[in-house]
Amino acid sequence: MCALRFKVPFSYYNKQDFSAKLAEWIGQVFYDILPEHGYEIREEQIYTAFQLAEAVCKGEVHFAEAGLGTGKTFAYLLTAIAYARFKGKPALIACASTTLQEQLAGPEGDIKKLSRLLGLDVDARMAKDPRQYVCDIKVNRFQTPLSEQPDDSLTSVLHWARETERGERCEISNIPDRVWTQVAWDETMPCETCSSRGFCKLVKARKHYRSASDLIVCDHDIFFDDLWTRDERIIDGKLPLLPSYSMVIFDEGHKVLLPASLRAGRQVIKEHIDSMLHFIEQIQGARTSLISITFAMDKATSQFFEILYHTANEDKQTDRLTVPITGELLKAANTLRRALEILHFELQNEQEMHIQTLSHTRMQTYEALAEKALAALNQFCRNQGKDVIFWAGQAEQSFWVVPRDISGMLNKHLFTRELPVVFSSATLSTGKDFSYFARTLGLNKPSSSSVYSSFDFDKQVLVYLPKKPPMDNSKNWFHEALTQLVSLLQLFKGRALVLTSAPSEIQRIRTGIKKYRLPFEFLWEDSAERGYLIRRFRQKISSVLIGSEFWEGIDVPGEALSLLVIWQLPFPPREPLIEAQRHEVQQQGLDPAITVDYPEMGLRLKQGCGRLIRTRNDRGTIAIMEPVLGTPWEQAALGALPAEARVVQNLEDLTDFTSTKNGSDS
Ligand code: SF4
Repeated sequence: MCALRFKVPFSYYNKQDFSAKLAEWIGQVFYDILPEHGYEIREEQIYTAFQLAEAVCKGEVHFAEAGLGTGKTFAYLLTAIAYARFKGKPALIACASTTLQEQLAGPEGDIKKLSRLLGLDVDARMAKDPRQYVCDIKVNRFQTPLSEQPDDSLTSVLHWARETERGERCEISNIPDRVWTQVAWDETMPCETCSSRGFCKLVKARKHYRSASDLIVCDHDIFFDDLWTRDERIIDGKLPLLPSYSMVIFDEGHKVLLPASLRAGRQVIKEHIDSMLHFIEQIQGARTSLISITFAMDKATSQFFEILYHTANEDKQTDRLTVPITGELLKAANTLRRALEILHFELQNEQEMHIQTLSHTRMQTYEALAEKALAALNQFCRNQGKDVIFWAGQAEQSFWVVPRDISGMLNKHLFTRELPVVFSSATLSTGKDFSYFARTLGLNKPSSSSVYSSFDFDKQVLVYLPKKPPMDNSKNWFHEALTQLVSLLQLFKGRALVLTSAPSEIQRIRTGIKKYRLPFEFLWEDSAERGYLIRRFRQKISSVLIGSEFWEGIDVPGEALSLLVIWQLPFPPREPLIEAQRHEVQQQGLDPAITVDYPEMGLRLKQGCGRLIRTRNDRGTIAIMEPVLGTPWEQAALGALPAEARVVQNLEDLTDFTSTKNGSDS
């Protein structure tokens, strides 16, 4: 079905210069139309909109960095809508999360708002992560009557699943992941040959977003799922996950590298293999050859995972544990690979023989699992692990393998397609230097624009860098830092967010701070669900929120967040994806600390600092508990602080900023 094609939103004739007409329209929107509706003009926003439009019309890859409060969403939406209509193909906007997709394309989102203001009928549709949809085949596997299910949450999900039309997780709140995964689509589901396809909610949702004429709003995961499988699916005669598009905008563009790597990767999950072996054991009258390979497989799996976790480096700061490559690990991986190959072959034979009695979908699911695990082991064993980055999972027993050359893949599949690609974010550079981010993507000098936040940081922010910071090489660092923290909390009467790098620091602070009997409510990251903690932090003005996961994605305008304490500078952990970057720059004769660690820390620090000032009425202080001035990373750290914010070194100089942060927003 082809959606109705709309006209470009300004008068335009074929032979006119589209880029000039687009710029004219953008000027008209920002200087005339939006102010007529009471919309405040921000020069930073207009500058970003013009730069971005020019880059898109030239078909460039563009970094659009715009600080907080500049309104970068409207800035890119104008070009996206006009360009999609000009090219006759939707523009794709890839967000970092489902929540951000909703904020953009939901019923009260920015796209609806802009459409109303401009009197445009914008056809924007959301392409959600398929894991957000229920799968009827999985639901139907629960044969037991609903009333006899052992778990209340599962019973209510099954009831809902049989009634719902859309089948989206957002329709049913408070369902734990553990239950949701039992009924939701996952990568092992055999959709291509599924007999329920005609009624399937996921398939219907896909059809719906495919026919969007202006904008498709997806997330980074789907985007890369599509990008890495697109050519293969077309060759196999299958539809790609996303339709053709005219341009791409990555919202929160600084976050693309992780999903790009993970979606290109393959994994072996021990629990999946165990469940496959258990399934085979249940097959009545299975052949001896199949049964005997399950024993070999069981042994090979246990051995492989034992060696993997025995050698993996313990690191609580990351979900991805680095694993050294050893002859023993390679040998175990090879043994497992061979066993899996035979098992895969035997499974196919068994399926043909027991075609009437075996669950067809289960069989296909396990075949898909075996293929994925095989792909991971093949990639790892080929060239002795040199072409891939690999790690052991922290949360579950799993082995991950991702291609080493993601930047090469991005170039091949995306950047050389003559397709405009925009990375939009508040944090793409340190001190307007984009080279670190560009290098991680394999880009050579993309076009860029950078504007600081439209907030008045010299009046709104004070930065406290203690004259004698607790020295990081001192045994007493923790006690000195804790004494500073207590003084700051007393001075600010709580109202603080404390950011640590290592989750283990949270427990240390909790134990250390007890004896001071401070009269504030402390909200510890590990003590409750994250959403609840943030809500409580907003409501209880004097409370103190402490965690390692609040460097981004938390929005607390008003007085409740008046003090931001950077307990530790966010240097990257020793995790495999970063280690691979360190290794690569070292090979090029560069210093990994200067080329990877400091810029990575700078970007993360910038994200953390972005939590403090959320409105023009906010005022607050950033206090850093680790040495900055006179260190090798001074430039990276100072470049990450809000531009033009005043720096003080004495506690007494903070007094002006300890009064109420904001009278109107809280
Ligand atoms: S098409 Fe896929 S998601 Fe839909 S019911 Fe079938 S297996 Fe489940």
